[in-house]
Amino acid sequence: MLALQKTRPGAGVEFRVLDEPAPPPAGEVLIRVHCAGICGTDLHIAEWTPGYEAMESAMPVTLGHELSGHIEKVGPDLDESLIGTRVTVRPSITCGQCAACLADDDDNCTGRKGIGIGRNGAFAALVSVPHANCHKLPDSLAMDVAALTEPMTVCAEAVATAEIRACQTVLVIGPGFIGQGIAVLAREKGARVVVVGRDDEPRLAALRTIGFEHLIDTRDTTLEQAVAPLAPFDAIIEAAGVPALVNATLPFLKKRGLFTIVGIHPRPAEIDLTRLVRMHQQIRGSYRAPAENWDDVIAFLDAHQEMMRALISHRLPLGDALLGFKAAHDRTASKVILQIEGQP
Ligand SMILES: [Zn+2]
Ligand SMILES: [Zn+2]
Repeated sequence: MLALQKTRPGAGVEFRVLDEPAPPPAGEVLIRVHCAGICGTDLHIAEWTPGYEAMESAMPVTLGHELSGHIEKVGPDLDESLIGTRVTVRPSITCGQCAACLADDDDNCTGRKGIGIGRNGAFAALVSVPHANCHKLPDSLAMDVAALTEPMTVCAEAVATAEIRACQTVLVIGPGFIGQGIAVLAREKGARVVVVGRDDEPRLAALRTIGFEHLIDTRDTTLEQAVAPLAPFDAIIEAAGVPALVNATLPFLKKRGLFTIVGIHPRPAEIDLTRLVRMHQQIRGSYRAPAENWDDVIAFLDAHQEMMRALISHRLPLGDALLGFKAAHDRTASKVILQIEGQP
Protein backbone atom coordinates (compact mmCIF):
# COMPACT_ATOMS: atom_id res chain seq x y z
CA MET A 1 0.00 0.00 0.00
CA LEU A 2 1.03 3.60 -0.63
CA ALA A 3 1.96 5.56 2.50
CA LEU A 4 3.12 9.14 3.03
CA GLN A 5 5.95 8.91 5.52
CA LYS A 6 8.49 10.93 7.42
CA THR A 7 11.67 8.98 6.88
CA ARG A 8 14.42 11.18 8.32
CA PRO A 9 14.88 14.22 10.56
CA GLY A 10 14.97 17.15 8.15
CA ALA A 11 12.66 18.85 5.70
CA GLY A 12 10.43 16.72 3.50
CA VAL A 13 8.04 13.78 3.41
CA GLU A 14 8.20 10.74 1.19
CA PHE A 15 5.81 8.33 -0.51
CA ARG A 16 6.73 4.71 0.09
CA VAL A 17 5.07 1.45 -0.88
CA LEU A 18 4.62 -0.73 2.20
CA ASP A 19 3.31 -4.21 2.86
CA GLU A 20 -0.15 -4.24 4.36
CA PRO A 21 0.05 -4.18 8.17
CA ALA A 22 0.13 -7.48 10.05
CA PRO A 23 -3.14 -8.56 11.74
CA PRO A 24 -3.73 -6.22 14.70
CA PRO A 25 -2.33 -7.27 18.08
CA ALA A 26 -4.50 -7.64 21.20
CA GLY A 27 -6.46 -4.48 21.97
CA GLU A 28 -6.01 -3.08 18.48
CA VAL A 29 -8.09 -2.88 15.34
CA LEU A 30 -7.06 -2.41 11.73
CA ILE A 31 -8.83 0.59 10.20
CA ARG A 32 -9.55 0.93 6.49
CA VAL A 33 -9.01 4.69 6.15
CA HIS A 34 -11.67 6.58 4.19
CA CYS A 35 -10.64 10.20 4.79
CA ALA A 36 -7.68 11.84 6.46
CA GLY A 37 -7.15 15.56 7.03
CA ILE A 38 -3.90 17.44 6.55
CA CYS A 39 -3.27 19.66 9.55
CA GLY A 40 -0.83 22.33 10.66
CA THR A 41 1.07 19.71 12.63
CA ASP A 42 1.70 17.75 9.43
CA LEU A 43 3.08 20.91 7.81
CA HIS A 44 5.38 21.51 10.77
CA ILE A 45 6.59 17.92 10.56
CA ALA A 46 7.10 18.17 6.80
CA GLU A 47 9.02 21.43 7.15
CA TRP A 48 10.81 20.02 10.21
CA THR A 49 10.27 23.07 12.41
CA PRO A 50 11.68 22.61 15.93
CA GLY A 51 9.58 20.68 18.43
CA TYR A 52 9.19 17.30 16.71
CA GLU A 53 12.65 15.84 17.38
CA ALA A 54 11.12 13.05 19.47
CA MET A 55 9.63 11.60 16.25
CA GLU A 56 13.04 10.53 15.09
CA SER A 57 12.96 7.22 16.98
CA ALA A 58 9.68 6.29 15.21
CA MET A 59 10.96 6.93 11.66
CA PRO A 60 10.13 5.84 9.08
CA VAL A 61 6.59 6.66 10.22
CA THR A 62 3.37 7.19 8.28
CA LEU A 63 1.83 10.63 8.99
CA GLY A 64 -1.89 11.43 9.37
CA HIS A 65 -3.78 11.77 12.63
CA GLU A 66 -7.20 13.15 11.59
CA LEU A 67 -9.12 10.22 10.17
CA SER A 68 -12.32 8.42 9.54
CA GLY A 69 -12.72 4.86 8.37
CA HIS A 70 -14.12 1.49 9.25
CA ILE A 71 -12.79 -1.42 11.27
CA GLU A 72 -11.56 -4.12 8.92
CA LYS A 73 -9.86 -6.55 11.31
CA VAL A 74 -9.78 -6.93 15.08
CA GLY A 75 -7.13 -8.12 17.52
CA PRO A 76 -7.46 -11.68 18.91
CA ASP A 77 -9.15 -10.49 22.13
CA LEU A 78 -11.79 -8.32 20.43
CA ASP A 79 -15.25 -9.26 19.21
CA GLU A 80 -15.52 -9.81 15.47
CA SER A 81 -18.87 -8.01 15.50
CA LEU A 82 -16.81 -4.80 15.59
CA ILE A 83 -15.80 -5.40 11.97
CA GLY A 84 -17.46 -2.86 9.73
CA THR A 85 -17.96 -0.27 12.50
CA ARG A 86 -17.49 3.27 11.18
CA VAL A 87 -15.14 5.20 13.44
CA THR A 88 -12.94 8.19 13.98
CA VAL A 89 -9.82 7.79 16.09
CA ARG A 90 -8.38 9.77 18.98
CA PRO A 91 -4.74 10.06 17.94
CA SER A 92 -3.20 10.41 21.38
CA ILE A 93 -2.42 7.07 23.04
CA THR A 94 -1.69 7.11 26.75
CA CYS A 95 0.99 4.72 28.02
CA GLY A 96 -1.00 3.05 30.79
CA GLN A 97 2.17 2.68 32.85
CA CYS A 98 3.34 6.08 34.12
CA ALA A 99 2.41 7.43 37.55
CA ALA A 100 -0.36 9.59 36.09
CA CYS A 101 -1.88 6.72 34.10
CA LEU A 102 -1.79 4.46 37.16
CA ALA A 103 -3.57 7.20 39.12
CA ASP A 104 -6.27 7.40 36.41
CA ASP A 105 -5.08 10.87 35.45
CA ASP A 106 -4.84 10.38 31.69
CA ASP A 107 -4.37 14.06 31.02
CA ASN A 108 -0.97 14.06 32.73
CA CYS A 109 0.37 10.92 31.05
CA THR A 110 4.09 11.42 30.43
CA GLY A 111 4.42 8.58 27.91
CA ARG A 112 1.93 9.58 25.22
CA LYS A 113 2.37 8.43 21.66
CA GLY A 114 0.59 10.10 18.78
CA ILE A 115 -0.89 8.14 15.89
CA GLY A 116 0.65 9.67 12.77
CA ILE A 117 3.56 11.12 14.79
CA GLY A 118 5.07 8.54 17.14
CA ARG A 119 3.56 5.52 15.34
CA ASN A 120 2.03 4.89 11.94
CA GLY A 121 -0.93 7.07 10.98
CA ALA A 122 -3.64 7.46 8.40
CA PHE A 123 -1.94 8.69 5.23
CA ALA A 124 -2.21 5.07 4.00
CA ALA A 125 -5.04 2.69 3.21
CA LEU A 126 -4.76 0.79 6.49
CA VAL A 127 -3.68 1.71 10.00
CA SER A 128 -3.66 -0.29 13.23
CA VAL A 129 -4.89 1.62 16.30
CA PRO A 130 -5.98 0.75 19.86
CA HIS A 131 -9.68 -0.04 19.93
CA ALA A 132 -9.91 2.15 23.03
CA ASN A 133 -9.05 5.15 20.84
CA CYS A 134 -11.93 4.57 18.42
CA HIS A 135 -15.14 6.57 18.57
CA LYS A 136 -18.13 5.15 16.74
CA LEU A 137 -19.72 7.40 14.13
CA PRO A 138 -23.45 7.81 13.64
CA ASP A 139 -24.57 6.20 10.35
CA SER A 140 -25.75 9.62 9.18
CA LEU A 141 -22.32 11.28 9.54
CA ALA A 142 -20.37 11.25 6.27
CA MET A 143 -16.74 10.18 6.36
CA ASP A 144 -15.35 13.50 5.03
CA VAL A 145 -16.95 15.53 7.81
CA ALA A 146 -16.12 12.81 10.36
CA ALA A 147 -12.42 13.33 9.54
CA LEU A 148 -12.81 16.84 11.01
CA THR A 149 -13.48 15.44 14.48
CA GLU A 150 -9.96 15.66 15.91
CA PRO A 151 -9.33 19.30 14.95
CA MET A 152 -12.86 20.22 16.06
CA THR A 153 -12.19 18.74 19.50
CA VAL A 154 -9.23 21.13 19.71
CA CYS A 155 -11.61 23.97 18.80
CA ALA A 156 -14.20 22.86 21.37
CA GLU A 157 -11.54 22.74 24.06
CA ALA A 158 -10.42 26.28 23.14
CA VAL A 159 -13.97 27.63 23.33
CA ALA A 160 -14.44 25.93 26.70
CA THR A 161 -11.10 27.24 28.00
CA ALA A 162 -12.08 30.75 26.85
CA GLU A 163 -15.42 30.39 28.69
CA ILE A 164 -17.32 31.77 25.70
CA ARG A 165 -20.93 32.67 26.52
CA ALA A 166 -23.93 34.12 24.70
CA CYS A 167 -23.84 37.82 23.83
CA GLN A 168 -20.08 38.11 24.20
CA THR A 169 -17.95 39.67 21.49
CA VAL A 170 -15.04 37.40 20.64
CA LEU A 171 -11.98 38.05 18.49
CA VAL A 172 -10.50 35.00 16.79
CA ILE A 173 -6.99 35.56 15.44
CA GLY A 174 -6.06 33.32 12.52
CA PRO A 175 -8.58 31.86 10.04
CA GLY A 176 -6.93 28.48 9.54
CA PHE A 177 -9.13 25.49 10.21
CA ILE A 178 -8.65 25.73 13.99
CA GLY A 179 -9.61 29.42 13.95
CA GLN A 180 -12.55 28.64 11.69
CA GLY A 181 -13.76 25.85 13.95
CA ILE A 182 -13.41 28.08 17.01
CA ALA A 183 -15.46 30.77 15.23
CA VAL A 184 -18.18 28.20 14.43
CA LEU A 185 -18.37 26.89 18.00
CA ALA A 186 -18.21 30.37 19.59
CA ARG A 187 -21.09 31.47 17.35
CA GLU A 188 -22.95 28.34 18.39
CA LYS A 189 -22.62 29.56 22.00
CA GLY A 190 -24.35 32.78 20.98
CA ALA A 191 -21.26 34.99 20.76
CA ARG A 192 -20.69 37.70 18.15
CA VAL A 193 -17.51 36.59 16.42
CA VAL A 194 -14.84 38.66 14.65
CA VAL A 195 -12.13 36.80 12.75
CA VAL A 196 -8.88 38.44 11.67
CA GLY A 197 -6.25 37.15 9.28
CA ARG A 198 -3.53 38.48 7.02
CA ASP A 199 -3.37 37.64 3.30
CA ASP A 200 -6.04 35.12 4.09
CA GLU A 201 -8.80 35.82 1.59
CA PRO A 202 -9.52 32.18 0.61
CA ARG A 203 -9.91 31.12 4.21
CA LEU A 204 -11.96 34.18 5.19
CA ALA A 205 -14.13 33.56 2.11
CA ALA A 206 -14.89 30.07 3.41
CA LEU A 207 -16.19 31.65 6.63
CA ARG A 208 -18.23 34.14 4.59
CA THR A 209 -20.02 31.29 2.84
CA ILE A 210 -21.24 29.98 6.20
CA GLY A 211 -22.57 33.31 7.34
CA PHE A 212 -19.76 35.12 9.15
CA GLU A 213 -19.78 38.88 8.55
CA HIS A 214 -17.08 40.38 10.74
CA LEU A 215 -14.04 39.18 8.80
CA ILE A 216 -10.89 41.25 8.61
CA ASP A 217 -7.85 40.87 6.39
CA THR A 218 -5.07 43.15 7.62
CA ARG A 219 -3.21 43.08 4.31
CA ASP A 220 -4.14 46.66 3.44
CA THR A 221 -4.35 48.10 6.93
CA THR A 222 -2.82 47.67 10.36
CA LEU A 223 -4.17 45.21 12.87
CA GLU A 224 -4.80 48.09 15.28
CA GLN A 225 -6.82 50.09 12.75
CA ALA A 226 -8.81 47.07 11.69
CA VAL A 227 -9.67 45.78 15.13
CA ALA A 228 -10.16 49.01 17.13
CA PRO A 229 -13.64 49.86 15.79
CA LEU A 230 -14.96 46.47 16.94
CA ALA A 231 -13.22 46.47 20.34
CA PRO A 232 -13.29 45.89 23.25
CA PHE A 233 -13.62 42.12 23.20
CA ASP A 234 -14.87 39.93 26.02
CA ALA A 235 -12.48 37.23 24.89
CA ILE A 236 -9.67 36.82 22.39
CA ILE A 237 -8.63 33.43 21.05
CA GLU A 238 -5.32 33.26 19.22
CA ALA A 239 -4.99 30.51 16.61
CA ALA A 240 -2.34 31.94 14.30
CA GLY A 241 0.90 30.99 16.07
CA VAL A 242 2.32 34.48 15.60
CA PRO A 243 3.85 35.57 18.94
CA ALA A 244 3.70 39.34 18.27
CA LEU A 245 -0.08 39.20 17.84
CA VAL A 246 -0.58 38.49 21.54
CA ASN A 247 0.75 41.81 22.76
CA ALA A 248 -0.66 43.64 19.74
CA THR A 249 -4.23 42.56 20.50
CA LEU A 250 -4.20 42.55 24.32
CA PRO A 251 -5.11 46.30 24.38
CA PHE A 252 -8.42 45.36 22.73
CA LEU A 253 -9.40 42.90 25.45
CA LYS A 254 -11.83 44.05 28.14
CA LYS A 255 -10.88 44.38 31.76
CA ARG A 256 -10.95 40.87 33.31
CA GLY A 257 -11.07 39.39 29.81
CA LEU A 258 -9.64 35.98 28.95
CA PHE A 259 -6.97 35.65 26.27
CA THR A 260 -6.68 32.05 25.11
CA ILE A 261 -3.72 30.80 23.09
CA VAL A 262 -4.20 27.82 20.78
CA GLY A 263 -1.55 28.52 18.15
CA ILE A 264 1.80 26.74 18.23
CA HIS A 265 4.42 29.48 18.42
CA PRO A 266 7.92 29.21 17.00
CA ARG A 267 9.31 31.79 19.46
CA PRO A 268 8.50 33.23 22.89
CA ALA A 269 6.18 36.24 22.95
CA GLU A 270 6.89 39.58 24.59
CA ILE A 271 3.93 40.70 26.66
CA ASP A 272 3.26 43.95 28.56
CA LEU A 273 2.60 42.31 31.91
CA THR A 274 1.98 45.50 33.86
CA ARG A 275 -0.86 46.33 31.56
CA LEU A 276 -2.15 42.75 31.94
CA VAL A 277 -2.06 43.13 35.74
CA ARG A 278 -3.82 46.48 35.78
CA MET A 279 -6.46 45.20 33.39
CA HIS A 280 -6.93 42.12 35.56
CA GLN A 281 -6.72 39.91 32.46
CA GLN A 282 -5.82 36.24 32.16
CA ILE A 283 -3.83 34.39 29.53
CA ARG A 284 -4.66 30.70 29.14
CA GLY A 285 -3.29 27.94 26.99
CA SER A 286 -5.55 25.34 25.38
CA TYR A 287 -4.49 22.15 23.65
CA ARG A 288 -5.91 18.62 23.55
CA ALA A 289 -9.52 17.90 24.48
CA PRO A 290 -10.31 15.12 26.96
CA ALA A 291 -11.58 11.85 25.49
CA GLU A 292 -14.99 12.31 27.11
CA ASN A 293 -15.68 15.39 24.97
CA TRP A 294 -15.22 13.61 21.65
CA ASP A 295 -18.73 12.24 21.31
CA ASP A 296 -20.23 15.73 21.77
CA VAL A 297 -18.08 16.99 18.91
CA ILE A 298 -19.13 14.03 16.74
CA ALA A 299 -22.78 14.88 17.47
CA PHE A 300 -22.17 18.53 16.54
CA LEU A 301 -20.58 17.52 13.24
CA ASP A 302 -23.46 15.14 12.53
CA ALA A 303 -25.96 17.96 13.07
CA HIS A 304 -24.04 20.54 10.98
CA GLN A 305 -22.59 18.53 8.13
CA GLU A 306 -23.33 20.93 5.32
CA MET A 307 -21.87 23.91 7.16
CA MET A 308 -18.75 21.99 8.15
CA ARG A 309 -18.30 20.57 4.68
CA ALA A 310 -18.06 24.17 3.38
CA LEU A 311 -14.75 24.44 5.27
CA ILE A 312 -13.24 21.56 3.29
CA SER A 313 -11.54 23.40 0.45
CA HIS A 314 -9.59 20.55 -1.13
CA ARG A 315 -10.29 16.83 -1.59
CA LEU A 316 -7.42 14.89 -3.05
CA PRO A 317 -6.39 11.29 -3.57
CA LEU A 318 -3.50 10.16 -1.37
CA GLY A 319 -1.14 10.28 -4.34
CA ASP A 320 -1.73 14.05 -4.61
CA ALA A 321 -1.12 14.71 -0.92
CA LEU A 322 1.83 16.98 -1.64
CA LEU A 323 -0.47 19.33 -3.57
CA GLY A 324 -2.55 19.46 -0.41
CA PHE A 325 0.50 20.23 1.71
CA LYS A 326 1.34 23.06 -0.66
CA ALA A 327 -2.18 24.53 -0.61
CA ALA A 328 -2.22 24.38 3.18
CA HIS A 329 1.22 25.93 3.36
CA ASP A 330 0.25 28.74 0.95
CA ARG A 331 -2.90 29.36 3.01
CA THR A 332 -5.13 28.93 -0.02
CA ALA A 333 -6.68 25.90 1.67
CA SER A 334 -9.11 25.86 4.58
CA LYS A 335 -9.07 22.12 5.15
CA VAL A 336 -7.48 19.56 2.86
CA ILE A 337 -9.02 16.09 3.05
CA LEU A 338 -7.29 13.11 1.48
CA GLN A 339 -9.80 10.56 0.22
CA ILE A 340 -7.96 7.34 0.69
CA GLU A 341 -10.31 4.37 0.45
CA GLY A 342 -9.85 2.64 -2.87
CA GLN A 343 -6.21 3.63 -3.25
CA PRO A 344 -3.91 0.80 -4.36
ZN1 LIG B 1 -4.25 17.89 13.61
ZN1 LIG C 1 1.00 7.32 30.95
